[in-house]
Amino acid sequence: MRLDYLSIFPDYLAPLGLSLPGKAAARGLIDVRVHDLRDWAHDKHRTVDDTPYGGGAGMVMKPEVFGEALDDLRIDGATVVVPTPAGRPFSQPLARELATRERLVFLCGRYEGIDQRVLDHVATRAELVEVSLGDYVLNGGEVAALAITEAVVRLLPGFMSNADSLVTESHEAGLLESPVYTKPASWRGHDVPPVLLSGDHARIEAWRHSEAERRTTQRRPDLLAPVTLDVPGEAGGADDT
Ligand code: SAM
Repeated sequence: MRLDYLSIFPDYLAPLGLSLPGKAAARGLIDVRVHDLRDWAHDKHRTVDDTPYGGGAGMVMKPEVFGEALDDLRIDGATVVVPTPAGRPFSQPLARELATRERLVFLCGRYEGIDQRVLDHVATRAELVEVSLGDYVLNGGEVAALAITEAVVRLLPGFMSNADSLVTESHEAGLLESPVYTKPASWRGHDVPPVLLSGDHARIEAWRHSEAERRTTQRRPDLLAPVTLDVPGEAGGADDT
């Protein structure tokens, strides 16, 4: 998978060279290219922002620099991911969807965000996916791009040395994962649940499943809520309420 990042703080994305993503890049599984957006600015201050039309606080990222960068990066046919609080909430299903793409291009916003026409233009040339990391506001898109990248690339075949660990993880089976323990069996008065020391794999599996259900019920009951289908014309659909 090829991954491009456009940012005015390319150093923010340095962690992409560390840990498992760094190893995946070294093995050629991912091809990471971080670009300084200011390289496409032409004035001596390398300006990337300007005041908003209509007035208001803050600055807006200019369309021209993005336009030239996107042309040089040849984004046509790629999937362009734009982190924004106004985007689709990020989730494991969306990570799985993005993991099927050959190329992701991240546009990292700053200030009040990116001129809307950049996004309108991208949508004519590429698949545009606006993604929100959650209902809060970050200073810029870099942290969101890192989080999205990490969730996506760990799903790529060959990324994890033990792909089995993906199967039981939180949000994969619709449940949070059960608690995990390692040695020693007793630590500061806290004991590992005896079933995990029993060697009885069927009982261990049953315990893990019931713990996963218990945790999910207590902490995230919304994950267990039945899905309501909005069938047009039928009583009970979202339009009827
Ligand atoms: N004025 C924008 C708004 O109210 O929606 C927020 C701009 S924020 C200060 C600057 C940049 O941080 C955004 O363009 C976006 O790239 C990123 N960002 C902030 N919060 C985010 C979130 N919850 N999810 C994804 N990206 C976010």
